[in-house]
Amino acid sequence: MKKVVKFGGSSLASAEQFLKVGKIIHADKSRKYVVPSAPGKRDKKDTKVTDMLYATYALAEAGKDFSQEMAFIKARYQEIINGLKLDLSLEKEFEKITADFKKKAGENYAASRGEYLNGIVMANYLGYEFIDAAEVIFFDENGDFDAEKTNDVLSERLAKTERAVIPGFYGALPDGTVKTFSRGGSDVTGSIVARAAKVDVYENWTDVSGFMVADPRIIDKPQSIDMITYRELRELSYMGASVLHEDAIFPVRKEGIPINIKNTNAPQDSGTWIVENTCQKSKYVITGIAGKKGFCCVSIDKDMMNAEVGFCRKVLQVFEDNDISIEHMPSGIDTMTVFVHQDEFEEKEQNVLAGIHKAVKPDTVDLESDLALIAVVGRGMRSTRGTAGRIFSALAHGNVNVKMIDQGSSELNIIIGVKNQDFEAAIKAIYTIFVDVQL
Ligand code: ASP
Repeated sequence: MKKVVKFGGSSLASAEQFLKVGKIIHADKSRKYVVPSAPGKRDKKDTKVTDMLYATYALAEAGKDFSQEMAFIKARYQEIINGLKLDLSLEKEFEKITADFKKKAGENYAASRGEYLNGIVMANYLGYEFIDAAEVIFFDENGDFDAEKTNDVLSERLAKTERAVIPGFYGALPDGTVKTFSRGGSDVTGSIVARAAKVDVYENWTDVSGFMVADPRIIDKPQSIDMITYRELRELSYMGASVLHEDAIFPVRKEGIPINIKNTNAPQDSGTWIVENTCQKSKYVITGIAGKKGFCCVSIDKDMMNAEVGFCRKVLQVFEDNDISIEHMPSGIDTMTVFVHQDEFEEKEQNVLAGIHKAVKPDTVDLESDLALIAVVGRGMRSTRGTAGRIFSALAHGNVNVKMIDQGSSELNIIIGVKNQDFEAAIKAIYTIFVDVQL
């Protein structure tokens, strides 16, 4: 049995948190490869080391003095080193980082030092080998992650390494320059390492005991999700679930490796399992509800639209030409509706409207803004009758006007459009009918 364990910033924010992490790793011999984030917030008012690095580098780039800011960053690590009573000095590392900042080594390099230094501390603390991610994780000349090269080099390296710490969040471009993933990217590194080491489980340790059925800022103490499939998670994550970076599922999914989200502060909780497939029924018909505000819909009407070959393509081309991504696209016989992100759309709306008129000569084009989309997702929906009906009646009882409802053909998800102002009420109504009032 082999596991990759990734620890998020809040799990590594202080010596106290490191001690919990050490206990977790030593409790299970199969936890062989460790991927740390940079130290996160110790409390609500604290600043993540990554954010400190971005701010410090901004000063360096502007040619300003950044010595005090760098000293604060150093103090964060020193506090951890002292608290763990390690025989380790980061003096030389900080000298080099300071010199590199002065040479304007780049924002990506700057941000990556949070994970890099934490990796050195972690390796020293555990007595594991340290592998610099810049030597084993690669991006191509366009800056895209190079999955195959990485997998070749990394798997070969890990095959020779019994136990190692590989810092999260960054890798290197072909010329050796450091490049980071997007924010939260240590989750992606964990998944890449899990694939390369062909582990049995990728454990992702954070500060919550897995996914909740709904957002706890909207639902008071929502139920947790024991098991969710990759596909269900995709449907939920693209709508804004925030526990795991949305790209983190792809490398492990290729190998069928499950991800287990665990809580560093409550390791006894089983957390959420993310799996390729399962015949285990979820506790409720729905697995989760997630949504996002801030959409705008463009409704195009034209008599006999359905008979006009290429109509949809011409409309979509207008959005593509204006570089606007489409979130959702329900349609009727003589009408087609396109949901887009309002902030992306607003500045280009007149171009889009003119483009649509020119492309398909519609009868009318209507715009409606301030809409929210809610995804109700569940593998259990396929075998249950009346899910959409229950959603409708719950929303009617909750006094929510439904603007749009659309069931994906896989019967895995139902998307509902409501006004922004009804967003919270709609989620509460749906949660109540499926979770609190189980039939
Ligand atoms: N430290 C980086 C961030 O704050 C990456 C990570 O934590 O995954 O985004």
